[in-house]
Amino acid sequence: MNIITKKKLNIFPVCAVLASLTFFNMSNVTQAAAMYDAAFWPCKGFPTNVYADMKHYVDQSVTDLGYGWINQSARNGWDKITDADVGYGRVFDYQSADTRAFAGYYTWADYSGLMQAYYSNGSKVPDADYLRPETPFYKAHVLLNDYIMDELLYSDNERLKTAIHEWGHVMKLAHQSPPSSNNGVWDSVMITGQFSMLAPSWADEQNVKWKY
Ligand SMILES: [Zn+2]
Repeated sequence: MNIITKKKLNIFPVCAVLASLTFFNMSNVTQAAAMYDAAFWPCKGFPTNVYADMKHYVDQSVTDLGYGWINQSARNGWDKITDADVGYGRVFDYQSADTRAFAGYYTWADYSGLMQAYYSNGSKVPDADYLRPETPFYKAHVLLNDYIMDELLYSDNERLKTAIHEWGHVMKLAHQSPPSSNNGVWDSVMITGQFSMLAPSWADEQNVKWKY
């Protein structure tokens, strides 16, 4: 607002003021997503050195149900962010893996994908604990629900968005506001729902760079 007031005082031509207003609004739109600390769950998650090189196990079900390239593209989307110390290395040993991917025909679930973290005693991290600062992750599982995605006729790119979203949760990214409360903008892969995204958004990348 200061800039606009100053420009008005300087008796800028009306069109220049309008142009600056338009630009001002556009800047707001591109930053509609929650940024930095506000984009993350407060929990501790994995240690920093694990985020830098997560040992990743791919269950046979992922390949069998056709999610091999989807899971890999999703991980690569986060992995390739420059200036962020996050990465995945595939391992074939279930026990030593930090993160594990599964796909299934989970008729008992109403979600397309799920990230479930585990404590070192093997118990699931309850939903409320993701919001507690002391909560560590010992393992994290990503489940891709072929049943729901088939039922809702998900396209390949919608399935890819689901996988990118779940891997975002592994990095403690929280849900972003739906477009209705976000200036109508679909600017984060962390928005829930059925839509296509081929990679993390600009806002998602900025958040991960800031955190890691
Ligand atoms: Zn989610």
